[in-house]
Amino acid sequence: MATHRTKMLIIGSGPAGLTAAIYGARAMLEPIVVQGLQPGGQLTITTDVENYPGFADVIQGPWLMQQMQVQAEHVGTRMMWDTIVKVDLTNGSPFRAVGDSGDEYIADTVVISTGAQAKWLGVPGEMELNGKGVSACATCDGFFYRGKKVAVIGGGNTAVEEALYLTNHSDDVTLIHRRDSLRAERILQDRLQANPRISVLWNKAVDSFGGDPAGGGLTHLNLRDTVTGEASELRVDGAFVAIGHAPSTELFAGQLELQDGYIVVEPGTPRTAIPGVFACGDVMDHIYRQAVTAAGTGCMAALDAERFLQGLEFDRETGHAEAAE
Ligand code: NDP
Repeated sequence: MATHRTKMLIIGSGPAGLTAAIYGARAMLEPIVVQGLQPGGQLTITTDVENYPGFADVIQGPWLMQQMQVQAEHVGTRMMWDTIVKVDLTNGSPFRAVGDSGDEYIADTVVISTGAQAKWLGVPGEMELNGKGVSACATCDGFFYRGKKVAVIGGGNTAVEEALYLTNHSDDVTLIHRRDSLRAERILQDRLQANPRISVLWNKAVDSFGGDPAGGGLTHLNLRDTVTGEASELRVDGAFVAIGHAPSTELFAGQLELQDGYIVVEPGTPRTAIPGVFACGDVMDHIYRQAVTAAGTGCMAALDAERFLQGLEFDRETGHAEAAE
């Protein structure tokens, strides 16, 4: 067991955390990134990435994250194979955290980039066919279903937005919801109903995903009527599970303000209510949730942490750094 002292502790190693690390290291803050249970974050469970700028050809999510990590290390980041299990933010800077290795981290600033995880249904076939027809991100993977038959599972804003988005690629989109009314906002429901490319299957639960993981991937969904219990089958090429995301914020409950589980920050900044503690990426963003937006807020967190350590703050009106009061 060791004690690690740093000017910047970054909790989480997705695009937000690694971008904060790159900027923090180049500002000589000698950042430590504690990688967590899923090093590299959500992109490590995707395949093709076509929407991260800078790459003309299709790249792989795990490769992109590996590149970010190597880049962060090249400029001076220390990566720790550890998971923070306890953190104390309430006594101000320096902050203390403990990893499940038993190591202690003492940090002048903390950047929280623990991300979020798509919720899954947990039914047979879902994991086996993940990336082979089953996805949790239409913006990421919808393009691969051009002209094909796709389904979206869920009844909230995300599900309806994903269904609407998919009509850019497919003229046969089915929304599957377990009840007979949607949770999504009225305006989205109106758009859904007005779209001839989308049909809705009400009162249907997905019992399993069918297909061959080693061959052609997903071929159909096995459905069950939640009212009558009747079983049916829906042929699809792609299925998008959109039943919500869960931000990873258990560690911070009671210390930072949370809204629907997400860390609350000062609008337009990565600042939490605790000076020296910043949140970036999906852990504070329930709307955009893209690798590139996460990277952007990671950059902002590092710049704000640097200003904090210099006793400076950005003046929001002028954009200049001013002495903090
Ligand atoms: P929500 O929690 O709002 O909706 C989840 C949906 O999935 C619900 O319809 C729920 O059904 C269904 N569901 C949950 N679990 C299961 C399951 N096991 N089997 C089948 N269906 C299931 O999540 P969203 O991701 O849609 O939204 C999260 C938050 O982000 C919300 O506050 C939303 O408003 C916000 N958001 C806002 C957007 C915007 O403003 N443009 C865009 C996207 C999200 P049921 O209704 O029966 O509970």
